[in-house]
Amino acid sequence: MEDCIFCKIASGEIGQLIYEDDLSVAFHDVNPQAPVHILVVPKEHIERLDQTDESHKMLLGHLLIVANRVAKEKGIADNGYRVVLNNGVSAGQSVWHVHVHVLGGREMRWPPG
Ligand code: 5GP
Ligand code: ZN
Repeated sequence: MEDCIFCKIASGEIGQLIYEDDLSVAFHDVNPQAPVHILVVPKEHIERLDQTDESHKMLLGHLLIVANRVAKEKGIADNGYRVVLNNGVSAGQSVWHVHVHVLGGREMRWPPG
């Protein structure tokens, strides 16, 4: 997708990756909401979680495996970290390419806003 910022980051055209494999990439959020705030993004351009189906089962599971991996690498796993996936406008989704937020390094509140 030519105009998708996360496709450009995932392809290496812009930005800096902290993790990459054949299915996904991870990079720091430009506007971090915690001391560690990483985005895990599939290389495939999928706009929203609700556009996925059974065929994405492996990919969606993979994103969580990568989320845990980068959380461990950044040292936030033991104390606890939060994984967030905003789907749609009311959830606060602002970039229309599926991404998993990995937040840690501070105490989290519940419920989220
Ligand atoms: P959403 O609100 O869609 O769940 O999350 C989008 C996230 O992407 C936000 O936390 C925002 O700060 C981040 N973001 C938006 N544009 C860029 C960018 O160009 N680079 C990076 N690294 N993060 C971005
Ligand atoms: Zn995209």
